[in-house]
Amino acid sequence: MVKKQFAVIGLGRFGSSVCKELYKQGHQVLAIDSNEEKVNEMTRYSTHSAIANATDEKALQSLGIRNFDYVVVAISGDIQSSILCTLVLKEFGVENVWVKAQNYYHQRVLEKIGADRIVHPEQDMGIRIAQHLTSEKIVDY
Ligand code: ATP
Repeated sequence: MVKKQFAVIGLGRFGSSVCKELYKQGHQVLAIDSNEEKVNEMTRYSTHSAIANATDEKALQSLGIRNFDYVVVAISGDIQSSILCTLVLKEFGVENVWVKAQNYYHQRVLEKIGADRIVHPEQDMGIRIAQHLTSEKIVDY
């Protein structure tokens, strides 16, 4: 398997689970958050970790973010940071920027600035669960 380089920015519930799974699968994964505690929690589940602000262009540059194959922007509480970070990543030429969106308006802006994949984890999981529920074989006694 060709190993890809991943970076995850924002280590909330979504970002940290993406990070852990990538690491578990043996990939190189850089974990980034502005919160030191979140970064410390993730050192065991990432190949590298860094405390940095997602909107700090220089900090992202010094982490070599443009060399990563995939960058996941997992900040949705602060829409402004999510948008600015995505913009910077696309300007840097990162090929695959996957972004967690909070709502439809957030999604529309992300589309305009070139996010490569936009995810709505709660909605997407709700759909998958409903599909699983309806595909279960129900035994009627
Ligand atoms: P969850 O995945 O838990 O649902 P969320 O989508 O609600 O989280 P936030 O609460 O906004 O997202 O943030 C997720 C993580 O992103 C937090 O750990 C937070 O510290 C981090 N974060 C927020 N803003 C920035 C920023 N500008 N730079 C770096 N990390 C940030």
